[in-house]
This record gives sequence, structure tokens and C-alpha cells, in this order.
Amino acid sequence: MNLCDFAPEYIRAIQPYQPGKPISELAREFGLDESHIVKLASNENPLGTSPLALDAMMSALHDTALYPDGSGYELKSALSKRYDVDPGQIILGNGSNDVLDLAARVFLKPGAAAVYSQHAFAVYPLVVQMIGANGIAVPARDYGHDLPAMLDAITPETRIVFIASPNNPTGTLSSKEDLLRFMERVSRDVLVVMDEAYYEYLPEVNKPDSLKWLQQFPNLLITRTFSKVYGLAGVRVGFGLAHPDVANLMNRVRQPFNVSSIGLVGALTALKDAEFVQRSYALNRAGMLQLTDNFRKKGIDYIPSYGNFISFRVKGETANTLKVYQSLLRQGVIVRPLGIYEMPHHLRVTIGLEAQNQRFLESLDHALSGLD
Ligand SMILES: *Cc1c(COP(=O)(O)O)cnc(C)c1O
Repeated sequence: MNLCDFAPEYIRAIQPYQPGKPISELAREFGLDESHIVKLASNENPLGTSPLALDAMMSALHDTALYPDGSGYELKSALSKRYDVDPGQIILGNGSNDVLDLAARVFLKPGAAAVYSQHAFAVYPLVVQMIGANGIAVPARDYGHDLPAMLDAITPETRIVFIASPNNPTGTLSSKEDLLRFMERVSRDVLVVMDEAYYEYLPEVNKPDSLKWLQQFPNLLITRTFSKVYGLAGVRVGFGLAHPDVANLMNRVRQPFNVSSIGLVGALTALKDAEFVQRSYALNRAGMLQLTDNFRKKGIDYIPSYGNFISFRVKGETANTLKVYQSLLRQGVIVRPLGIYEMPHHLRVTIGLEAQNQRFLESLDHALSGLD
């Protein structure tokens, strides 16, 4: 036996998360100029970062010799005011992925189980498997979560249900009514994680009153992030909102300085930049129309999306989908293949700036013409 053989079987079985291909990697592989590459693979904000947040982070660089405020006092105060929750209900994370991980570490153990949907965010199975707990993937319905089936899939061992709404990579949304019905019916000894990473991209009419539900359901954990509409994916800040008892347990297992000083300042400032959020929202709506109009004209099948990305289907065998992906790469456009999401016919593209979307659409035309 060597050392690594002593690592638990469930650790050795983990398939690493595959992120979108970085620009620098594509440039190296294909000998392309980095400035010519368009990355639409990780649902990042094409407008970049809020200029106010950028300035604040630049100033904060002077203090990087000091540890950050491990309690995140200022950011929590701002979030508490914004969302009308007690600071004791907030868990700050190194991205909301960190919050998902904390939930798994608090509520799961080997033998316990967690329920999530087929085609749901890849981090759920990952954090479940890291604990050695069992993941129960419930077949999707029209690519969306089948909430009644997820309810039925809950076993006595189940401690967490993950719901992504909108979901990534499908962009599907569970209706407010269905979500509320789910909360009313699910046992109070199961934590329901509502992953709302794309909440700010929802039109007002589609936004569920999930924050209000916190008062009613002590087993609800809402997760949000600064990575998407706030444009801070690189500095890693997300947060969870839950009953104080749940938040308290989660805060005990987090690393004392899990959010960096730059991240804290960036998030605090970005939260105040309503203009940037509004601009990002509007750009996304326009870009979504630009892509869906074009898909319809070309007869490309796509899954209507509520996020800042859209998944579309390449006709024919799955080999065609990979050919299109590769052709896009050669043309300097990075999108995301969805084989690991059990969607081998689909590619996911992030909504970019108008010119980036145009570049993607033209490259897609070229890629598809190469299939005939
Ligand atoms: C992008 C995304 C997140 C956010 O991840 P961070 O760790 O906050 O960057 C969370 N959930 C889903 C479904 C996502 O797509």
C-alpha cells in the first residue's frame, strides 16, 4: 500500500471539476493571440467589474499585509440592511461554492444523502462526494428540476436538497409557486439549499420571495454570489442566508479568513453600485435576444434561459457537438461542452457584449457549415 491508497475510496473516486478553458491555455494550444480570443465559457460578466468596486479594491491593495476581518463585519452589515436579515443569519464564503461546501460539511456524513436534479450544477455532487455521502440525482423534466419527484426521492438519510433556480447549465427556472409548495411539503429536518447565483438576472415578476421564506422555514439556506452580475468572480465572494442556528453551525466550520480583504471591499462596494447591476442586467437581456433570435432563424434548438448563458443543441450525433466546440476553439471562441452534465448534444454559451455575441454567431455559422 502506498500513502494515497489510504485515502478514502470516495475521495479517490472524485472526478475533478472541469472549469471553462482559460484564455491563456487556448492561446498556447492553438498559437492564437490572447487579445483575439473571446471567452464565453464561465458565465462571467462581460462588462467586467463595477468601476466603483475596482477603485475600492485598488486602494485596499495597500493593506494586504494585514489579515482580513474574519467576521466580515462591514459586508455583513451591508447585506443585513439590503436583505433585511440579522447579521447572525449570514454566512460569507470564498465564492458561493464555499457556502455549498460548508452546508455539506455541516449536515452530511458517510451514509447520509443529498438530493439534486439531473443536469444541475456540478458542484453539488462534488461537495456531497467529498464527505462520502450519497448523491441522489433525480431525472430532470424538460431539462428543469422535477420538484415533486425530488420530494419523493428524499430518504430518511437525506439531509440536504440542492435546488438551483435558475439552474446552470440549463437556465431553467422553478416557478415561485412550485418552490413554495416544495418548502411547505418538505420535512423540516432536511436543509433545502436554494442556489440563487443568477437571481439578479431575473425579471422582477419571476423573482421568488425567497428571503421572506427564511422567516417561515428554518431549514432554508439561500445562496447568492458576487461572481455573476457583480462581476467579481476572480476575487471569490458569495454568501448564504439561513436561520441563525444553521448559520451558526456553518460559521463554525468555515476557515477563519475564508474571504480575502480585497474580496470583502470589492463586494461591499459592488453592492452599492446599482447602476452597474442595472447595466449588466440590460446588456444580458439584449444579448439573450440577439442569440435566441439568431438561433430561431437558423433552426437551432435551445433551452430558454433565465441566466446569463444559454445552452443550445447541435443536430446529429454527439460527435458533431464536439466538432463544433473544437471549431469554435480554433476560431478563438470558448464555450462550454456539457458532456459531464449528461447533455452531450448541447453547448453552453455565456451572453457577452454585442460584438462578442456576433463573433460567436458568425463562428458558429462557420462551424456548422463544416459539418455538412
Ligand atoms: C456560478 C454559479 C455559482 C457561483 O459560484 P461562486 O463560487 O460564487 O463563483 C453558484 N451556483 C451556480 C449554479 C452557478 O452557476
